[in-house]
Amino acid sequence: VRILVTNDDGVNAPGIFALRSAAAGFGEVTVVAPDTEQSGVAHSITLVQPLRIRKVHHGEQFFGYGINGAPADCVKLACREILPEPPELLLSGINLGSNVAIDILYSGTVAAAIEGAVLNIPSIAFSLAETEEPDFEEAALVVHDLLQSLLLDGLPACRLLNVNMPALPRSRIKGIRVTHQSRTSYNERYERRVDPWGRSYYWITGELTRDFEQEPDSDLRALRDGYVSITPLHHDLTHYQAVPELRKRLAADWGKGEGRVAREG
Ligand code: MN
Repeated sequence: VRILVTNDDGVNAPGIFALRSAAAGFGEVTVVAPDTEQSGVAHSITLVQPLRIRKVHHGEQFFGYGINGAPADCVKLACREILPEPPELLLSGINLGSNVAIDILYSGTVAAAIEGAVLNIPSIAFSLAETEEPDFEEAALVVHDLLQSLLLDGLPACRLLNVNMPALPRSRIKGIRVTHQSRTSYNERYERRVDPWGRSYYWITGELTRDFEQEPDSDLRALRDGYVSITPLHHDLTHYQAVPELRKRLAADWGKGEGRVAREG
């Protein structure tokens, strides 16, 4: 299996070392990742700056390619320029910190996997729900076991999976749950501080509200209960249930064509 490994924490982040070694047993691995941390850039791409590909070595050892762009740039460049053939599997992570609930929309880790799915590559995002003292070696054991299960009968039919791992040793993880994205939101606020010149600056902060207690099958709840969470995702954001009603309502004012708005009169 040709495997592309990427992330949003940067090509030198410990999480990508762990993911690369976990993937190594399953095929031929190529690392293509951002030069610098890109957490929170979501699915952005670089349009107004030139992109450069840099070979990254650790000691004498070639490690992979670093790019001065976003995770989605890395996936595109890997598939279109770096790899002689498209990868058969894309793995993104292992992210420092979980990517659950609304964070999925901001995540560069998940965006890289979405980009892979857009390019027809089965793609999996991996995140570890720990930011203080992450044990990526233990997380890599989970990745390894999960890949083994998923690849057993060929690559998964669902092209986009979001995996979150609790901050527990492999032996203490209770199991795996197939989950949905929690609807929990943030108690969000900005911390205002003052720089040495008397000007204000801001840091976003806050914590997730606790209403995932009411969501037994959610990603957040699985983590809290000590399970690995795996959520199949889809990048089509259309709200299909809303389509018929909106068509009907617009048809009244906009005439025939079931509410399709014509470009000219
Ligand atoms: Mn990150």
